[in-house]
Amino acid sequence: MPTFYDTHAHLDYPDYEKDFSEVVARARAAGITRMISIGTSLESSVRAVELAEQFPAIYAAVGWHPSEALTAPADLRPALRELARHPKVVAIGETGLDYYRLPSSQKGSAEDDARYKKRQAEIFAQQLEIAAELGLNAILHQRAAFDDTLAQLKPFATQVRGVFHCFGESLERLKEILAIGSFVSYTGIVTFKNGQNIRDAVAATPMDRFMLETDCPYLAPVPYRGQRCEPAFVKEISETVAQVKGCSLDELSAATCRTAHQFFPKLA
Ligand SMILES: [Zn+2]
Repeated sequence: MPTFYDTHAHLDYPDYEKDFSEVVARARAAGITRMISIGTSLESSVRAVELAEQFPAIYAAVGWHPSEALTAPADLRPALRELARHPKVVAIGETGLDYYRLPSSQKGSAEDDARYKKRQAEIFAQQLEIAAELGLNAILHQRAAFDDTLAQLKPFATQVRGVFHCFGESLERLKEILAIGSFVSYTGIVTFKNGQNIRDAVAATPMDRFMLETDCPYLAPVPYRGQRCEPAFVKEISETVAQVKGCSLDELSAATCRTAHQFFPKLA
């Protein structure tokens, strides 16, 4: 059976509290042999590390999500540095910028927007610094903030590569990402009826520059769309991606797993 990795899963979320070991067992049965649980705050990062300690197939990324920027400590670096030294912490993230729902869209002022964006940029910079310092790559979340995210990443590009997770941008932007040595990853959206733009991006991405992910519990692929997502569903994602690439599942497995090991050197 071709094996795949889920390179972006939120396994510490309460969605899995009741049946966590079954979720892990179903992933294994579907050939999903590695899962990376992604931190969105220090608490969530600690939980991701704990899961990695309990389950051989689980690894962790530690970071602070931009949407939660206002509750971040002034300086994330000391805590992140310590967490990231763990042997199963394979990346920093998720980090980046998210301008999708600014305070002004919810009765906030222009000053609130400015403060929020500034705070996001500060914690993004801190996380890129730690990634560079520890020789780790970064898992990037951006929404409605592509240009600023790329601009902040660029000065680090010789030290830190990013994976633009849940990629859904234009082919032009894909080129910009690839040009600075960064990567993209694709979720279940690739299977959606209205996901043609994602399939076009997959078709245009070189075989050695992308990875697969679920972003679970979100974005379950067809035929599970709308349900709770879980790592086992990388199987459905891989089938659509292989079709789009016109390659076999074995070829896709070999390419995406090799890319994951290059991008996450601590992944065993
Ligand atoms: Zn995520």
